[in-house]
Amino acid sequence: MARYTGPVCRLCRREGVKLMLKGERCMTPKCAFENRQETPGVHGAKRQRKLSDYGTQLREKQKARRIYGVLEKQFRKHYDEARRQTGATGERLLQILELRMDNLIYRMGFADSRKQARQLVRHGHFAINGHKTDIPSYIAKIGDTVTLVERSKEKTYFKVVADSIGKHDAPSWLTLDAKGLTGRVVRLPEHAEIDSLLETNLIVEYYSR
Ligand code: SF4
Repeated sequence: MARYTGPVCRLCRREGVKLMLKGERCMTPKCAFENRQETPGVHGAKRQRKLSDYGTQLREKQKARRIYGVLEKQFRKHYDEARRQTGATGERLLQILELRMDNLIYRMGFADSRKQARQLVRHGHFAINGHKTDIPSYIAKIGDTVTLVERSKEKTYFKVVADSIGKHDAPSWLTLDAKGLTGRVVRLPEHAEIDSLLETNLIVEYYSR
């Protein structure tokens, strides 16, 4: 399935929650969801009906995919990986999504949204443990260090980021060296620490049908 390239605010209306896909704009009165909450489409408001169990599980899975910007095939791979690991599958899935390279860049404050973070990674601006990595779906491990590559420090965008990143509130499972523009995964994130709207048990139920 191709990546969705339409208006992202429509996705928030589709899922009925603010998915925070547009960075700072999501926090302002310009947020489209604040002004228009009905489901997209000509008969939007009429389509807000009670969902079946399957429908609820499907919507939760879609919500997760949209928040983290992951295609179905990749999302399924993350789920399968979560199932292979010990512990609660839903919790592990959320950790895997949080440890994706694009999410780390977003959490460290290098980007305003996960979509922008993905683009920065794709353009080869970051290294993991000293090795340039342009794979947004790379799953970091405890102890991995993410660094802005030397030549990117000269770019205007990153000079602006370098001035503001010190004020960024990185999650406690990540250490952020604002001067060195480096972050390190110190431990696995816990569910309660992730500002997630997701009910991961519904996603597990969806894939366990
Ligand atoms: Fe969703 Fe509002 Fe952000 Fe648009 S601006 S992506 S509607 S939260």
